[in-house]
Amino acid sequence: MRTTDLLIVGAGPFGLALAAEAGHQGVPHHVVGRPMSFWQQQMPAGMLLRSASDWHLDVQAVATIEAFLASRGLTPAQAEPLTRELYLDYCSWFAAEKGITAEPQHVQRLDDADGSFRATLEDHSVVSARAVVLALGMGPHRRAPAELVALLPPGSWRHTCDAVDFAGARDRRYLLVGGRQSAFEWAALLAEAGARQVDVVHRHDSPAFAAADWTWVSPIVDRLATDPGWFSRLSSAEQEGFRVRLWAEGRLKVEPWLADRLPPAIVRVRPRTSLAAARLEDDGSVSVDLDDGDRVVVDEVLLATGYLPHVDDLQLLRAGTLPPLAHHDGIPDLDDGFQTSVPGLYLTSLPAAGHFGPFFGFTIGTRMSAAVITRAVLDRLAGTPAVPSPRLEPTDSQAASDS
Ligand SMILES: Cc1cc2nc3c(=O)[nH]c(=O)nc-3n(C[C@H](O)[C@H](O)[C@H](O)COP(=O)(O)OP(=O)(O)OC[C@H]3O[C@@H](n4cnc5c(N)ncnc54)[C@H](O)[C@@H]3O)c2cc1C
Repeated sequence: MRTTDLLIVGAGPFGLALAAEAGHQGVPHHVVGRPMSFWQQQMPAGMLLRSASDWHLDVQAVATIEAFLASRGLTPAQAEPLTRELYLDYCSWFAAEKGITAEPQHVQRLDDADGSFRATLEDHSVVSARAVVLALGMGPHRRAPAELVALLPPGSWRHTCDAVDFAGARDRRYLLVGGRQSAFEWAALLAEAGARQVDVVHRHDSPAFAAADWTWVSPIVDRLATDPGWFSRLSSAEQEGFRVRLWAEGRLKVEPWLADRLPPAIVRVRPRTSLAAARLEDDGSVSVDLDDGDRVVVDEVLLATGYLPHVDDLQLLRAGTLPPLAHHDGIPDLDDGFQTSVPGLYLTSLPAAGHFGPFFGFTIGTRMSAAVITRAVLDRLAGTPAVPSPRLEPTDSQAASDS
């Protein structure tokens, strides 16, 4: 069994930012997770980011996206909107600059063991840690509404995060359910991949093609870094005000660079429309009746129905022996240091949005999360006894580079 002070589970933007800051502050740590696997495997090639170069990962403000771009002879103005591929390159560069090497495995279960944690990895090896941070991102929280799933023939649909390879899209017909950025981005990419027909169906009005204004978000998240309890102390009405404002930027607008990429001959946008019935035809196509009386026949339905955090989605906790996390409507109760109701267990990224604000659905939260969690873990380690078992072997490349 290997041991470490801090186990970071997940090597996406939140996990990488935390590993860098923990290393900077001298916290021995170990990262388990396939680096940036959600961005690599569950977002499509050619996707453009909504966020710009200022949403970097480095609390120390050295390994920034701007510094990365400069190393390639690029300015933000030349590089934006950032491609997914460029952002992935930035994250690889960031990990190299910070000496972060993640152990590319999945944590299958997390147990308690005499005041410490035992993480069992997919190869059945065990890592023992005094503190654990779960930075698992959005993937576990994908949502396919039950009423849609009940209506659609089995095998006829996928969530957009499972439909990111458009190599086979030529001449196919798609129904995209959803009306936010992902629905329109997938529609554009499908049309560009040669899809014959893409119907985009949503219950609400279509969003506007307009640049989102995120400029007000950074000062708020910077403020949270020095006063992490700020958002949670606001009244419900004030919190809702921020949620509505972020919603208006992120959900009521889609990026203007999509507008020209939706050829009307292929992409039909159907606002204020719902699915009424669906059936599988003999030729394998799916006939979908819409509540406006129209019918579309497609080869596949894609659900751009997003993500919603719930503690029950955290499979590694369900498989283990830790007590259930305290929560409200599935949103975990956290303290101002991202600690859950289980002492020493921290949770960041999307599930932290309940306590710290809706900004945690985006990478803007990475630096604040890294700085605050590192401080909290340092405090905890200073007050708790070390795990009485052998430490990670110094020759272990993971341990050497992560710490
Ligand atoms: C289509 C789309 C577009 C987006 N565009 C933007 C954008 O432009 N700008 C922006 O700021 N945000 C954007 N987001 C949001 C962004 O994806 C998240 O804010 C960000 O990825 C969260 O980072 P993370 O590290 O928490 O999670 P992730 O990037 O999801 O990384 C979590 C990692 O944890 C791993 N993991 C999960 N469970 C385990 C386990 N048990 N053991 C080990 N590893 C595990 C996963 O495999 C994954 O690699 C977008 C999201 C989507 C879906």
